[in-house]
Amino acid sequence: MSTECLFCKIAGGSIPAEKLVDNEELVAFKDINPVAPVHVLIVPKKHIPTFNDLDANSAVTLAAMHETARDLAKKLRIDETGYRIIINCNRDGGQEIFHLHMHLIGGRAMGRMG
Ligand code: AMP
Repeated sequence: MSTECLFCKIAGGSIPAEKLVDNEELVAFKDINPVAPVHVLIVPKKHIPTFNDLDANSAVTLAAMHETARDLAKKLRIDETGYRIIINCNRDGGQEIFHLHMHLIGGRAMGRMG
């Protein structure tokens, strides 16, 4: 837990968000500035600043994030049409919040990466 971190505060419940999942490992909530009809952030409760900070102890967290993305895609009915999952890392990756999170984006055609 980092006392200055927005996503730690959302995960801990002191700042509100439209949560779809809240369990021991992670929270998932709607992005405040969605880029598509479905845009959910999947955020581990543990404060991990970037993808670079993952290590051998992160396997459970990473598996939970991916399982949650798969389950939410089905629940939000974008599993058949398709979706994109993204983890931005540092400046060139476009990371704005330095607490690891996965974007689940769908509900429209994504187009090419770039
Ligand atoms: P990233 O650029 O990968 O760090 O993504 C950060 C995401 O957090 C952006 O898509 C923001 O729109 C989103 N975001 C920032 N503040 C909030 C908030 N209070 N609640 C929900 N989403 C947020």
